[in-house]
Amino acid sequence: MPTRPYVIDEMISAKTIAARIEDLAREIHDAFEGTDKLVVVGLLRGSFVFIADLVRELDLPVEVDFLEASSYGDGTESSREVKIMKDLRGQIGGRDVLLVEDIVDTGFTLKHVVGLLKARKPAHMKTIALLNKQSRREVDINADWVGFEIPDEFVVGYGIDFAQRNRNLPYIGKVRFT
Ligand code: 5GP
Ligand code: MG
Ligand code: MG
Repeated sequence: MPTRPYVIDEMISAKTIAARIEDLAREIHDAFEGTDKLVVVGLLRGSFVFIADLVRELDLPVEVDFLEASSYGDGTESSREVKIMKDLRGQIGGRDVLLVEDIVDTGFTLKHVVGLLKARKPAHMKTIALLNKQSRREVDINADWVGFEIPDEFVVGYGIDFAQRNRNLPYIGKVRFT
């Protein structure tokens, strides 16, 4: 999709992200210590870089699975309608699950997916989001762990796209139209 010209201003550096993930991994380790196997569920596509870095810091037996939910299309505004584009491959009933999201914005996506996965009766389920825009929340849901609180800006990088571009930036930046 062609967009207006824009630049990306760095907001959270790769180094800052890496340091935060080390801390989060420690907390997650303590919360799930003793699990025989943790199923780490990444919400595609925005969480793919985060989940890759997070599981490599997690000193626990893990299995990785993915779910694709779509609410944004190619624009910058949430449609508030969550569609499951790709379901998990594995079963999560009776398992320990960590759901990994890139950004919690209005909250519609996380709430919908948490409801869907809880209906499958995992033994324990926790949620983690790399970024949280608390000021944008429209439904009552919060991730158990948040990497960074951010203001109401449209961000890209570290797995997160604008019209499918910029996912490969190593940092989180905000889009500024020029
Ligand atoms: P929610 O359902 O909470 O409104 O939206 C969640 C999803 O919208 C996130 O998982 C993310 O994919 C997308 N989203 C929210 N804010 C941003 C943003 O600033 N940039 C991008 N690229 N996607 C966002
Ligand atoms: Mg997402
Ligand atoms: Mg997206």
